Amino acid sequence: MTADLDAARELVPAFLDELRAWVNIDSGSDHKTGVDQVGALVRARFERSGFAVETHPQAVYGDNLVARRKGSGRMRLLLIGHMDTVFPVGTVAERPFTIRDGRAYGPGIFDMKSGILAGITALDLAGAETLDRFAAITFICNSDEEVGSPGSTPLIRAEASQADVVLVLEPTRDPACVTVARKGIAAYTLDVQGVSAHAGVMPEAGRNAILELAHLIIALQGLHGSLPSLSVNVGAVYADGRRNVVPDRAQAHFEMRAAEPEIFAQGQAAIEAIIAAPRVVPDTVVTLTPGPVHQPLALTEGARKLVAVAGSVGAELGLQIKPLSIGGASDGNTTGGMGIPTLDGLGLIGQNSHNPDEHIIIDAIPVRLALLAGIIRALPDVIL
Ligand SMILES: [Zn+2]
Repeated sequence: MTADLDAARELVPAFLDELRAWVNIDSGSDHKTGVDQVGALVRARFERSGFAVETHPQAVYGDNLVARRKGSGRMRLLLIGHMDTVFPVGTVAERPFTIRDGRAYGPGIFDMKSGILAGITALDLAGAETLDRFAAITFICNSDEEVGSPGSTPLIRAEASQADVVLVLEPTRDPACVTVARKGIAAYTLDVQGVSAHAGVMPEAGRNAILELAHLIIALQGLHGSLPSLSVNVGAVYADGRRNVVPDRAQAHFEMRAAEPEIFAQGQAAIEAIIAAPRVVPDTVVTLTPGPVHQPLALTEGARKLVAVAGSVGAELGLQIKPLSIGGASDGNTTGGMGIPTLDGLGLIGQNSHNPDEHIIIDAIPVRLALLAGIIRALPDVIL
């Protein structure tokens, strides 16, 4: 294990050089050209490590990459990282990759270009002999995670259905942390159709869509906190009208989150029950349109075994592994929601994702590479 740490220290200068090239290309989710340019560099890096890389073309978002390596063992390992960022074109020109006070800054460096590179580097560190002990190692680099993975989720689901273990390379805040649970998220659009009328001459002919929506918002927000970990947020309301006209249309966007799969399902059912209940404003018509759903990533029995592996590898590196439960979703929700043992938060250490001060801690790179390499080396002996 300390051999890994020594080897990882040697790799840091080359790691940062490669990362600089990746970070210095704007790759916001909606900037396909940039994401594809990053993809070309990522592909070349995989090929240098002996992986065969497939491109899965996408019309709107960047192309997804799937890197593969076959071995002669039994376990099928899937790693996942995303190449897109939340930053618009021009961000790199404003604040390119910079090293200052032991930290490396740049758009998407922490979340999570460094995670993809850490994954590839850790596979190198684990070594060919270890990699041959797997039946297959598959590494998805997707292009659209920051907008909810609309184009890559089918690919992730297909590959996860062929995997025994999933490692997600999202970043985390402290060298000892791994992410074991993430809340599920259900997003919705709510439309209310009423009847417009002159507010002074014939108010009784009108059916006020805003008023009905107001009652619905209060009922939905009433679910917030009604079950452990359940949160509801009505985050946007749209209604365009005039003071003297009874409004006939109103819309709200909201989301529900919960940590446990059972609570998540109960939250979804409670929302549907509110919509199915009789209307407060008679004759208004309510339509609930579900958006993307991220199932909760929960600490299942299989995931506990992965945490135990991380715990013993971490102990050898002087880290007392801390399993984190967090509110934000990742592609780990998709694989965990399918019941595939998933360990997340295996990327690098830093702070301020989605923020101009986003950075990674350079000193923490070797220990995280060694942790990941050690986990990969231990996996073929884990009985799931
Ligand atoms: Zn991310």
